[in-house]
Amino acid sequence: MIFLKTDEEIELMREANHLVGMTQGELAKHIKPGVTTLYLDKIAEEFIRDHGAIPSFLGYNDFPNSLCISVNENVVHGIPSDYVLKDGDIISVDCGTEKNGFCGDSAYTFCVGEVAEDVKALLRATKESLYLGIEKAVEGNRVGDIGDAVQTYCEKRGYSVVRELVGHGIGRKMHEAPEVPNYGKRGTGPLLKKGMCIAIEPMINMGSKNVVFESDGWTVRTRDRKPSAHFEHTVAIRQGKADILSTFEYVEAVLGNNAI
Ligand code: MG
Ligand code: MG
Repeated sequence: MIFLKTDEEIELMREANHLVGMTQGELAKHIKPGVTTLYLDKIAEEFIRDHGAIPSFLGYNDFPNSLCISVNENVVHGIPSDYVLKDGDIISVDCGTEKNGFCGDSAYTFCVGEVAEDVKALLRATKESLYLGIEKAVEGNRVGDIGDAVQTYCEKRGYSVVRELVGHGIGRKMHEAPEVPNYGKRGTGPLLKKGMCIAIEPMINMGSKNVVFESDGWTVRTRDRKPSAHFEHTVAIRQGKADILSTFEYVEAVLGNNAI
């Protein structure tokens, strides 16, 4: 069942999502060679709690941490650890909060130090495809319009779209109906209605689309071990133009000209 949100509920969701953006901005200050992913997780958990919210990933299906941090060939759902970030790594940082009974969910893939140009191009294309998907997230369109926009853009550049993991509805629960694939055909899938809230989250691989589920029960990585990028926004469906509830403004303020 797809839950439509009232304007008041959407404002509460904006608060939860805004805090995700602030948390990502805080993390952006600390992402550099020599730092462990577990250290970043601790910063995020403290920051979220200090702002009167709960890190919604912590304990979700027994997930052990507050962030999903996926380095290089890891696509999503990486578990923070004592892995020390090194120059040239990329890390997808996926963050969720629950505030006032509503969820926020957003992800950003960061460069650690100097990253190879071809990897930066993958990040740029993934982020761009997110915004192209968001452009289609308006009343009267269908879920397949979003996936088609993401897939067409990325495949034209030689990248591939992960099939096993998809975006999702979001609200009082982090994962609600409908599923929002990053692939699909225009004019197909559930109709987008005003008040629907969805997380759009392209997961784009430099090599083949195939992934492996690691034995830790969470981490998903590319089968060919080539890099993968992940960007995510939570949006509310409106007439004419999607309302982006999460924000990269804090990340981009910290990264300045180095932002992807
Ligand atoms: Mg997420
Ligand atoms: Mg999500």
